[in-house]
Amino acid sequence: MAEDVIDFREICENPELVDNLDHRIIRDVRLPDESELYVCFTFDDGPTEYTPLLLDLFKQYDAKATFFVVGEFVDEFPNITRRIVEEGHQIGNHTYFHPDLSKLTIEESDKEIMTTEAAITTYAKTRSHILRPPYGLFRMETVERAEQMGYRFALWSRDMYVRDWEYPGADAIVQRVLDNMKNGSIVLLHDGGGEREQTVEAVQRLFPILLKKGYKFITISELIEVSERKYAGKI
Ligand SMILES: [Zn+2]
Repeated sequence: MAEDVIDFREICENPELVDNLDHRIIRDVRLPDESELYVCFTFDDGPTEYTPLLLDLFKQYDAKATFFVVGEFVDEFPNITRRIVEEGHQIGNHTYFHPDLSKLTIEESDKEIMTTEAAITTYAKTRSHILRPPYGLFRMETVERAEQMGYRFALWSRDMYVRDWEYPGADAIVQRVLDNMKNGSIVLLHDGGGEREQTVEAVQRLFPILLKKGYKFITISELIEVSERKYAGKI
C-alpha cells in the first residue's frame, strides 16, 4: 500500500495504533456531558430493499439516521432515495461505484462523487454535505478535495466498526454496539452490499434498549452541531 494511503479499517482493527488523523476528519466524537445522550446510526452502501425496513423502524421511533448512498443504487432506487430525505434523515455521498478512492486519480474520484451527487439532486432535490470513502480508504488529498467540493469528510467511531458484513448474527451485532456505546458514537452499519436481515433485526432490538438508556438518535450534521454548540467545536 502506498505510503500516503490511510486505511481507517486498520486503525479500527488494531487498538494499539495511534489515531493521529487530521482533525477535519469526523470519527470519534466525545460528548462528555452525560445529561444529554446522542448516537448517530449510519448505513452504507444502499439504497436497497432493506432500506425501507430501516426507514420504517426509524419512523416508528421518531429517530434520525444517516445514509451514505452509492450512486448506482440511487439511480436504481430513486423513490427510496427520496424517502430518506423526505423523512428527515441525512444523506451522504459514498461514491457511484464504490471504488477504493486511494487508487483513483483526483479526476476519477471527482467523477465518482459528482455523478452520485447529480443522482441525489435529481431524485431527492437536495445535495449531500458529507462524504464517506468506501472501505475507509483514502489519501489526505481526497479529504482536501472533498472540502473544496463542500463536504465534511465523515468516517465512524473507531470502536463502532461493527462488521455487520461478516454476518455474525443479530445478537452479536447488538452486543458489539452496546459494548462500545458512548455519548456521541457514530455506528457503522450497512443497508447494502449483501443480505442485511441481521442488521435490520439488530437495529430493531437496539431501539428500545438505547431509548431506555436515554439516547437520542441524530444525524451526523446534528452531531456536529451539538458538538460545536456545547463544546466549542471540539469534534
Ligand atoms: Zn461502503
